[in-house]
Amino acid sequence: MNEILILGAGYTGMAATMGLVGRIKGRDDVHITLVNPQTRFTERLRLHQVASGQALADLQIPDQLAGTGVDFVQGWVTGIDADAQTVRIDDAYTLRYDTLVYALGSVADTELVPGVDEFAYTLNSAQDALLLAQHLDRMADGTVVVAGGGLTGIESAAEIAEQHPGLDVVLLSRQVPGAMMGDKARARLHAGLDRLGVQVRSGVDIIKVMSDGVALGDGEVVAAQAVLWTTGVRVSPMAAAAGLEVDERGRIVTDESLRSVSHPNVYAVGDAAAIRQGYGVMHGTCQSGIPTAVHAAASIVRELKGKQPKKFRFGYVHQPVSLGRNDAVIQFTHADDSPGRFYLAGGPAVAYKETVSASPWTTYRLIKVLPALGASTWRRGGRLTR
Ligand SMILES: Cc1cc2nc3c(=O)[nH]c(=O)nc-3n(C[C@H](O)[C@H](O)[C@H](O)COP(=O)(O)OP(=O)(O)OC[C@H]3O[C@@H](n4cnc5c(N)ncnc54)[C@H](O)[C@@H]3O)c2cc1C
Repeated sequence: MNEILILGAGYTGMAATMGLVGRIKGRDDVHITLVNPQTRFTERLRLHQVASGQALADLQIPDQLAGTGVDFVQGWVTGIDADAQTVRIDDAYTLRYDTLVYALGSVADTELVPGVDEFAYTLNSAQDALLLAQHLDRMADGTVVVAGGGLTGIESAAEIAEQHPGLDVVLLSRQVPGAMMGDKARARLHAGLDRLGVQVRSGVDIIKVMSDGVALGDGEVVAAQAVLWTTGVRVSPMAAAAGLEVDERGRIVTDESLRSVSHPNVYAVGDAAAIRQGYGVMHGTCQSGIPTAVHAAASIVRELKGKQPKKFRFGYVHQPVSLGRNDAVIQFTHADDSPGRFYLAGGPAVAYKETVSASPWTTYRLIKVLPALGASTWRRGGRLTR
């Protein structure tokens, strides 16, 4: 029996699973196991909505897997033995694999600045987002600092400001929020944040987080009753500890087919993978992660058939940013994620963003039937998004 073990049932782990299910139909020599700590799927790209008090659909992973033959294991991966080809679950037992799909994602990097781990909220999990939501509910007034002006920070600041108009929301960032966008889209983004009352301060360096605010590099203290940390992400040290070749950020270095360069029976996808394209190493998004997962699934099945996996190619399409529930900006991009000429804003951008972020269950059903439809778009590592 060929044992395929998928670690992590986030956006990419689920996509790899459903991609495999669609491709191995009828084969009784292949067995798939999916490991995740929770049975409920985390719609990570909507966690800023949870943090601002909104409820999301209850998407249960076992429901999605019903009838597929995939075994779901609820547990926490605590170690990998790449030589023995086993994975340790909850420090209690091991699972064996012939092929491993490593899809453990990333979390906010809370280790670089003192006080973050102790005093700041994160959007690392639905539970973490809920903790912030509960705290904000208890605040009748006061200040919320959102640290980090990347897309997660922008979306969070906008969402909190819209859902809690009585609170002052301050977005603190080294870079100008939306720096990666073109001038017009960025100007529109700032107008949207301004309309929602978000105070944007860029060029600032947060050097410490405290129980009552944050300290900046120039000595100023910004008082706050809640701090949300969104500056950059880090990955699990588990791949490095297992002896897999990783980059300077701990992501698994892959070959052109998304296999680990040091351990070719390990495929790495999504945020946890360092995947080189012509324009450089990809950065983690759902937009890019789901195609990596679908490609890995197709490659595993090719290998099972004794064929060589194909090269993965990917070009970015857009930078989609929600500004609360009623506004958004979509910067369309070149393949390397640099801004193109066009952008959308307002109602059409909201509709676009909601379409591409629509229930992942629909996306996974599509991924499952794609091979049956003979579609080749995913295999080309094409420009489909989540
Ligand atoms: C607020 C927010 C908004 C975002 N908006 C967008 C957007 O609009 N567009 C976009 O493209 N991207 C967006 N992103 C980024 C996107 O969510 C990630 O790039 C994407 O989730 C990466 O998918 P993944 O499968 O690699 O990781 P994840 O989706 O994080 O999944 C990882 C899974 O692994 C599990 N896991 C982790 N460690 C272990 C372990 N030790 N044992 C077992 N399981 C484990 C986790 O519980 C999780 O289920 C956003 C992110 C955030 C936080």
